[in-house]
Amino acid sequence: MKIMFKTPRQSPTTSPARTARVHFADLYAGYPGHPVLSQLSGEITRLTMTALVGPNGSGKSTLLGVLAGVIHPTSGELHCTGERQPAYVPQRGAVGDSLPLTVRQTVEMGCWGRRGPWRRLNGRDRTVVDAALDRLGVGDLAARQLGELSGGQRQRALIAQGLAQESDLLLLDEPTSGLDPEARERIEELLTALVADGVTVVQATHDLEVARRANACLLLQDGRLAGQGHPEEVLTTSALARIWQTL
Ligand code: ADP
Repeated sequence: MKIMFKTPRQSPTTSPARTARVHFADLYAGYPGHPVLSQLSGEITRLTMTALVGPNGSGKSTLLGVLAGVIHPTSGELHCTGERQPAYVPQRGAVGDSLPLTVRQTVEMGCWGRRGPWRRLNGRDRTVVDAALDRLGVGDLAARQLGELSGGQRQRALIAQGLAQESDLLLLDEPTSGLDPEARERIEELLTALVADGVTVVQATHDLEVARRANACLLLQDGRLAGQGHPEEVLTTSALARIWQTL
């Protein structure tokens, strides 16, 4: 297995937007005694919104875990360009709403990678946290407990935590699932704005409309790539019928 981190190399004719932020080839990964992903080859293009689509259990979260660096491939190649660790935003449901954390404390945890857990934040960290709270429109909720918030507000607090990590690669696990249309739209707009500001965004999603509006799509079936490319080319009626009918 080969995992490489390197700074992007660009020829004068290569636009930064067209280079791969992550490239993987013949990748296998999973859990002890439970292989999930196999023979995955593809890439996450810099400065795009990429949607990971596939039925439950097809390996979307596992692939996010690999991209985040928390699940190590069992074989294959994974090349990451860029110097920053990815920021990973877990599924909202995976974050206990009984945790006695305020929104500000939740976002401050995004600084722990730089500062270390429970360390005092410095002035720059506080500026980063304030900017992330404002950017996600949760500044006025900073003193509220996470468990008191609506699903959309909680999701925005979690994305703000991801932003506080100051990464150029944001990985999100179903950020809009279970939200009402208004909250969903707000999050979609925020993520689109982040891409415009220079962040590469990858989101696992069940929402085919969200996936169709992405710049690129990876379609997973049983841990294998059933398609990748522009959503219009990947999410065809026949491909979706083939995958969902075999369930
Ligand atoms: P998706 O996100 O597409 O629903 P997952 O990546 O969560 O798919 O799951 C892929 C497969 O891996 C499923 O069969 C799931 O049961 C299994 N799986 C997920 N997490 C674990 C884990 N921590 N340990 C063992 N198996 C897991």
